[in-house]
Amino acid sequence: MKFHFWGTRGSIPAPSTTETPTHAFGGDTTCVSVLWGQNNLLVVDGGSGLRQAGMVWNREGRKNFTFLFTHAHWDHIQGVPFFLPGFRDDVTIDIYSPRLPGAHAGNLMERALHAQQSEPFFPAGFPQLRAKISFHEIQPGHDLILRQGSDSLQIQSVAVPHPGGCLAYRMDESAGGKKSSLVFATDNEPPESSDNPLTQLAHQVDLLICDGQYSEEEYPSRRGWGHGTPELCLKEAISAKVRRLLLTHFDPTHSDTTLFQMEEKIRRAVRPPSLNVAFARQGQTLEL
Ligand SMILES: [Zn+2]
Ligand SMILES: [Zn+2]
Repeated sequence: MKFHFWGTRGSIPAPSTTETPTHAFGGDTTCVSVLWGQNNLLVVDGGSGLRQAGMVWNREGRKNFTFLFTHAHWDHIQGVPFFLPGFRDDVTIDIYSPRLPGAHAGNLMERALHAQQSEPFFPAGFPQLRAKISFHEIQPGHDLILRQGSDSLQIQSVAVPHPGGCLAYRMDESAGGKKSSLVFATDNEPPESSDNPLTQLAHQVDLLICDGQYSEEEYPSRRGWGHGTPELCLKEAISAKVRRLLLTHFDPTHSDTTLFQMEEKIRRAVRPPSLNVAFARQGQTLEL
């Protein structure tokens, strides 16, 4: 399985400036992709990083896309109107998104994508996309299994603490006799208890990707906003006995300098040292 970060930023894109350089860790909002089995693509979230990704996949001539959304907050869907393959009539897109307990009737993601891509916010409405688009819902606790020949990608989910709700996903790949696993837990404020649904979901995965938006100093004034700190994520990673931890969803006010300092601080806090901890970089690919 190959995992790629097209966007690592939370809340709003943060282009690099002289005052707040962000080019080392990236300025685009959340979009990641997973290549599994024989070149099968899964796109997770569609923040502003999706624009660049769409250009690359369009050049490669990809025609089939499977999207998996964690939730409908703007920084996770704002790249969709700029997704070039969406405007092609030879493209097929399947969109999976959460159906959370107590949600209103109808597909929330379908409604959100139509709303953001309509007048007066955007000139080309969602119905003008020429790709064949299908919407599907995922309920926490219900597995989704994608298959291609004898290869498979099993996707499990749990609801995580975040205003309005959000799902964390575990992906287990079985391909060519090899197995690998990861958990993508963006937009998540880890609870104090180490025995929570996310800890169980992430048990012994190869890689945990976790929301490290705030510094330890910032967190007390942002408690309840639905985001974590590197320290809270590290606790989660140790409880879940994962092999590797990557922090993402960086605050738009955090410059490269701040993020380098936060990364250094959390690396020094790691016990046992066998746990590999780092901050994600936009453009980074990991092979599991
Ligand atoms: Zn977010
Ligand atoms: Zn959010």
